[in-house]
Amino acid sequence: MAAREIPSVGYESKLLGRVEVAEGTMAFHFEKPPGFKFKAGQFADVTLIDPPETDAEGNTRTFSIASPPFENELVFTTRMRDTAFKRSLKKVPLATEVQIGSAAGSFTLHKNRAKPAVFLAGGIGITPFLSIVRQADHDRLPHKLHLFYSNRRPEDAPFLDVLQMLEKTNPNFQLVCTMTEMPKSKKEWKGETRLIDQEILSRHLTNLQGPIYYIAGPPAMVAGLRKMLVAANVDEDDIRTEDFAGY
Ligand SMILES: Cc1cc2nc3c(=O)[nH]c(=O)nc-3n(C[C@H](O)[C@H](O)[C@H](O)COP(=O)(O)OP(=O)(O)OC[C@H]3O[C@@H](n4cnc5c(N)ncnc54)[C@H](O)[C@@H]3O)c2cc1C
Repeated sequence: MAAREIPSVGYESKLLGRVEVAEGTMAFHFEKPPGFKFKAGQFADVTLIDPPETDAEGNTRTFSIASPPFENELVFTTRMRDTAFKRSLKKVPLATEVQIGSAAGSFTLHKNRAKPAVFLAGGIGITPFLSIVRQADHDRLPHKLHLFYSNRRPEDAPFLDVLQMLEKTNPNFQLVCTMTEMPKSKKEWKGETRLIDQEILSRHLTNLQGPIYYIAGPPAMVAGLRKMLVAANVDEDDIRTEDFAGY
C-alpha cells in the first residue's frame, strides 16, 4: 500500500520505543512509513504534532537517520538537551503520532569501490555513519571503511558496542575510537585518547591522500577537522561534510 504523504510535511509515523544509548543520549525508534525511501547517511525532519510543550524553536528538528535502510524502523538519536522538543519526545506515550519529512541530503557513500571511505565522527555525529556502515555490511559492499570516532568518555559514546562488534565481523571495516577525557571516566580504556588529528590518521591509514573523507557533527568540530585535513594535503574535493546545525 502506498504511504499517505502529507503535502509539504511528509509521512505519518508512530513512536515505537526509546532507548538510552549513552549518557544523556537517546535513540528514538519510529515506524517506517510504507513508501518511505532513503539512502544510508540521509536525514529527515521529525515534527511533533501538538506536543505537551513547545518553544520558539518550534516542533520540528532535523536528524540524520541512524538506522540503515534495510531495517523496518527509523531510528533517530540525539543528545537530550533541556529543550521543549526533546522534553516532549522523552515523555509522550509510545504510539504517539509524529510527522517525518522525506529523506534528504547527499551525505551518502561514494560509488567508486576502489576508493576507501574515511569517516570522522565526534559524539552524536556518529548517526549517519552508523547507518552507512551497517548498510554497507548488509550489502557486502567491497569498499574499505575506516571510522574514526571521538568522544570524551566511553560513557558518552553512542553505539560503541554495535560498532565494535561490526569491526570483528566485517574485515572491510576498521574502527578507531578515541576517548579524550578519560580522567573523568569510570570505565577502563586501552585505545586512543588524543583528538582526531593528522597523527592519529597517519597511524591507522596507509595513505592520507586517496580516500574520500566524510565529517559529521557540530559545525565547530566539522570546521576544525576539515582544516586539519586540508593542512594534511587532502584534496578539498575529497572532503564531504554534514553540519549538525543547532549544536
Ligand atoms: C543535516 C542535520 C542532521 C542532524 N542530525 C542530528 C542527529 O542525528 N542527532 C542530533 O542530536 N542532532 C542532529 N542535528 C541537529 C538537530 O537538528 C538539533 O539542532 C539539535 O539536536 C539541537 O536541538 P535542541 O532541541 O537541543 O536545541 P534547539 O532548541 O534547536 O536550540 C537551538 C539553539 O539553541 C542552543 N541551545 C539549546 N539548548 C542548549 C543547551 N542546553 N546548551 C547550549 N546551547 C543550547 C543551540 O546551540 C542552538 O543555537 C542535525 C542537524 C542537521 C542540519
